[in-house]
Amino acid sequence: MIKIRNLTKAFSGNIVLDGISLDINSGDVIAIIGASGAGKSTFLRSIDYLEKADSGQIEINDFKVDFTKISNQEVLELRRKTAMVFQQFNLFERKTAIQNVMEGLTVVKKLSKEEASKIAEQELKKVGLSDRMDYYPKFLSGGQKQRVGIARALAMKPELLLLDEPTSALDPELVGEVQESILRAARDGQTMLLVSHEMDFVYNVATKILFLEKGKIIEQGTPDEVFNHPKNPRTKEFLNRHV
Ligand code: ATP
Ligand code: MG
Repeated sequence: MIKIRNLTKAFSGNIVLDGISLDINSGDVIAIIGASGAGKSTFLRSIDYLEKADSGQIEINDFKVDFTKISNQEVLELRRKTAMVFQQFNLFERKTAIQNVMEGLTVVKKLSKEEASKIAEQELKKVGLSDRMDYYPKFLSGGQKQRVGIARALAMKPELLLLDEPTSALDPELVGEVQESILRAARDGQTMLLVSHEMDFVYNVATKILFLEKGKIIEQGTPDEVFNHPKNPRTKEFLNRHV
């Protein structure tokens, strides 16, 4: 069980996260939707401490921290328990696909090269990249790069996977292959928080949808509840524009 409590964040007086609390069960796939500027990226980044929240706590099973009092040791622990997939891939350009996936396993998890390469091979195989393991990122398509990013995150066996618009930088014909990899991870039981503007995909993959507006969760429910029977007029308006 993961519990996020009262997360707040302001940038120069402008409130971007306005007291967000959320419970996440093991295996939940929670999709966050909302307009540009609603605070979706800031929410994910605060969870991973890439942004420093002004207040808030997170509990990941037996690990509990307050973001305002977090120690360097706890930041490392938090990042061992979470993993982020970025819109712009953020791969190491000077490392091959398999070296990118091995990096966290050897550096953070302190596995031997043999153990790390075995896990990396398995994860790259799952995302359909067995034949691209020794390629450098510049010789991979956007979709292949993002699948390396997903393999790299999953290799760490995170208790929570964070994905911030993982397909929005891709050419339309490459979106499907990346969505397929995320769907597979979801079916394998990976707990995740996903920000996406792809409403069809979100409807299919999520166990729960959150609608974020001005830093607040103003509607939440199953995909059927939120998409087909939204309660808040703001949700209705947003969906009319995006579906
Ligand atoms: P999008 O759908 O466009 O990605 P978002 O919901 O992810 O939007 P955020 O990136 O979380 O929105 O930004 C929320 C608000 O916080 C915006 O008004 C943005 O300008 C502001 N903001 C985000 N990061 C910073 C920063 N580092 N410094 C100042 N303001 C910021
Ligand atoms: Mg964003």
